[in-house]
Amino acid sequence: MKFGLEHWALSIVLAGFALAAPMRAQDNTMNTLAERYVRLVLAVGQHDADYVDAYYGPPEWRKEAEAEKLPLTEIASRASTLARDVAAAKPPVTADEMTQLRHQYLARQLEAARARVSMLAGTRLRFDEESKALYDAVAPMHTEADFAEVLKQLEAKLPGQGVLIDRYDRFRSRFLVPRERLDAVFKAAIEGCRSRTLQHITLPPGESFTVEYVTNKSWSGYNWYQGNYHSLIQVNSDLPIYVDRAIDLACHEGYPGHHVYNVLLEKNLLRDRGWIEFSVYPLFSPQSLIAEGTANYGIEVAFPRADRLEFERRVLFPTAGLNPSDAAQYYDVLALVDRLSYAGNEAARRYLDGAIDAKAAADWHEKYGLYSRPRAEQRVRFIDQYRSYVINYNLGKDMVAAYIESRGTDRWREFARLISSPRLPSALAVNNARR
Ligand SMILES: [Zn+2]
Repeated sequence: MKFGLEHWALSIVLAGFALAAPMRAQDNTMNTLAERYVRLVLAVGQHDADYVDAYYGPPEWRKEAEAEKLPLTEIASRASTLARDVAAAKPPVTADEMTQLRHQYLARQLEAARARVSMLAGTRLRFDEESKALYDAVAPMHTEADFAEVLKQLEAKLPGQGVLIDRYDRFRSRFLVPRERLDAVFKAAIEGCRSRTLQHITLPPGESFTVEYVTNKSWSGYNWYQGNYHSLIQVNSDLPIYVDRAIDLACHEGYPGHHVYNVLLEKNLLRDRGWIEFSVYPLFSPQSLIAEGTANYGIEVAFPRADRLEFERRVLFPTAGLNPSDAAQYYDVLALVDRLSYAGNEAARRYLDGAIDAKAAADWHEKYGLYSRPRAEQRVRFIDQYRSYVINYNLGKDMVAAYIESRGTDRWREFARLISSPRLPSALAVNNARR
């Protein structure tokens, strides 16, 4: 009996080896392809300063890319060969979900890299073609009429003299964070976002970030992930900062947004599984829709409306020296303004497709998105630099929200699962359609 049991156990072990061997071969093939992909992304970065958003793989690979400085034609040719080899390495249907996801993700990220290389070489894509090629998604179309109802409600909520944007600006000026209180307000917001996140998501020990205040940028905040579980978060103080930006930025750039997203990718995919492709983050790729979408949706996960109002009243308004009794009214108005966010996509689409010029694009932001003039102009500079990337924020958030909320009521669990695995934007949409 004893012998029999051992023999039985040995058979299981042997069967395990028989099954594991092809999977190990699959992993080895993928690891080799992944290294070629990382080197390719680093090579593209030599032609496009915004492209490599984060890299914390072997430093010599970056040095080699810098020394080689491959021409775009050679990069395009290598990318095409790599795409063929990745297609040939498709795992069997019996492979586990993560193996399948890894392969689909690498293939699609590579496709986006090829599109970016083609753009750098001079190819002009229409806005929707570009967003599909780079971010695996297309934003819905809107007309002026789609924003009319929300604008009408705002007209009623913000009575007084002058045009709506001026009334909104005057109203907002009551919620400005004084420069000297900015850091204290941000620190309090970060603490609020971090403690809420840590109740639901385990982060590796030693994760940390640094906050810097910068000027003269086309964005309002940026997370530069450094690797080793560390982020550098930059906050742009060019324009006045209103109190709502504290939680928005702290959640979006920090917890549970970009910082947590990158930390979990590094921990779960790069370190635990050795998937080297996650040591590089090409900005113009489907990964950005997931990154921006989860960072924006994460604000609501960490701070559902009632919790947020309570925290704003009790902590942030007093820290900023503002009157807490105005908080509910402020957030009512902001919730309406948020419904105008697709006006920005529409302006970008028309502007990049050549239907309107930069001034008209700023006018659109002002009129239909309620951006103040300096903010509207900053936004057009952002579009000049990042183009169809704009869809990643609002469409990304809506796609992530629909996907997570279709999967049950435990938003934190689904959120953590989404940012711990390589999933493509189109896969979020497909899963939604099935439900
Ligand atoms: Zn972001």
